[in-house]
Amino acid sequence: MAAILIDGAAIAQQVYSQLKQRVQRLAARGVRPGLAAIVVGEDPASRIYLRNKVQACNEVGLHSEVHPYASDCGEREVLDRLQGLNADPRIHGILVQLPLPPHLDLERVQQAVAVHKDVDGFNWTNLGAMTAGHTLFAPCTPLGIMTMLDQTGVAIEGKQAVIIGRSTIVSKPLALLLIARSATVTICNSRTPDVRVYTRHADILVVAAGKPGLIDGTMIKPGATVIDVGINRLPGGKVVGDVDFESASRVASRITPVPGGVGRLTVAMLIANTVTAAERSCSAV
Ligand code: NAD
Repeated sequence: MAAILIDGAAIAQQVYSQLKQRVQRLAARGVRPGLAAIVVGEDPASRIYLRNKVQACNEVGLHSEVHPYASDCGEREVLDRLQGLNADPRIHGILVQLPLPPHLDLERVQQAVAVHKDVDGFNWTNLGAMTAGHTLFAPCTPLGIMTMLDQTGVAIEGKQAVIIGRSTIVSKPLALLLIARSATVTICNSRTPDVRVYTRHADILVVAAGKPGLIDGTMIKPGATVIDVGINRLPGGKVVGDVDFESASRVASRITPVPGGVGRLTVAMLIANTVTAAERSCSAV
């Protein structure tokens, strides 16, 4: 039987309609959530991601501003701008669009975002707080995956979750969120001798490796929920995930498409985190 499609666009729309209500309540208190983005260079994919984020801000009623820099800009310029945005009361969330050119120190730039405006959840203080079970801002992709699982009624407690990939922005924080919900979590990486040993036991399989076709139907436990995080642009321009959708959807019970899956929720969670930051700014005064 074909798997049920987990429709990222539809779930994101549900999130947006709830967020609009929160934005209205903030408006009644004279606050409009604001998101600022720093983008360096002309990477075409970055520009598309950023455009989607600005569109989402418009849809929900957030103020947004983009601060573009030439690809050869100095690090000091960017850091000074971040300092200004950290102090700007109209801005509740700040994101640094990746990738940055290699001459900029990624960690120094990312860590310059104030903890209380770190809506991407990449600040080490926020990541560390998650480890201790106190999430201030969870990174957007893991938070989006949890939202997809919850909105689709996927049981988490007591289940085997396997994550392919060990990144700091997706896989490790996702593991923490799943552990907090009492899943048993395994993380595989590129040196794992045979990922199939693990994937075939996964009730929830999350694939975030950036390798098209890495996982096919023979590697999936019948009835599993499969979340495909990968975004890979093939030579002809087609965008695919890490999972061979056709064979996987014959074995899984639920599966996310690429595009139209996790990516939609990543954007929605960025907006959600910004609204949360604005709500916190009200209760702080
Ligand atoms: P990354 O690109 O930093 O690292 C890839 C990870 O996959 C590494 O930890 C590596 O050890 C692991 N890996 C690679 N080959 C493997 C293999 N054969 N078996 C097991 N593990 C293997 O990770 P990332 O930043 O999480 O990105 C992963 C993918 O997810 C990329 O395609 C990226 O574009 C995509 N992504 C999508 C979203 C979204 O919103 N949909 C968000 C972030 C990242």
